[in-house]
Amino acid sequence: MDSLESIAKEIMQCKKCSLHKTKTKYVVGSGNEKAEVVFIGEAPGKEEDEKGEPFVGGAGKLLTEMISKIGLTREEVFIANLLKCRPPNNRDPLPEEIEACGSYLLRQLEAIRPSVIVCLGRFSASFIFRNFGLEFSSITKLQGKIFEVEAWGKKLKIIPLYHPAAVLYRPQLRAEYEENFRKIGNLVKRKQKTLLDY
Ligand code: URA
Repeated sequence: MDSLESIAKEIMQCKKCSLHKTKTKYVVGSGNEKAEVVFIGEAPGKEEDEKGEPFVGGAGKLLTEMISKIGLTREEVFIANLLKCRPPNNRDPLPEEIEACGSYLLRQLEAIRPSVIVCLGRFSASFIFRNFGLEFSSITKLQGKIFEVEAWGKKLKIIPLYHPAAVLYRPQLRAEYEENFRKIGNLVKRKQKTLLDY
């Protein structure tokens, strides 16, 4: 099995699709190699492309706030994207880009083996659902629900949520968004408590 570091080295030289020609920096992902929770976005935006870090722009500020509200830090979790390079003008990812880049994400997940995957937005959710044997319908229908599958010889919870940029755009979604993050916080706390009980 690859380490996160060796996967990162491969990504930093990737030329599997044409996005490497228009990007500024590769955005590999950041956080804890032993994270219980992994957050997966769509693709780097302008700020992320400039800094080489995921979720550091406006949507990232909201995500970071939500993560800290449930008592976690960005250093404790892992944050990554489906695409590691910014699509020009933040256009939607193309199927061939998802096909080319998605295998890096699956290998990163395999290296971390988290208990909870939070999919931010429809592209991330649809990719993760397909790869873990779940049927994706629409993000509006599925967001906030908890799905459980078997992966890496243990139980894995998959939670699709709206992309934080959608919540910035539609503030009426925010209360439910916070409630969904509380659910994630409870899942992690329950897991920590169970470990302490032994
Ligand atoms: N939107 C994403 O999906 N990912 C980022 O890293 C930033 C914005």
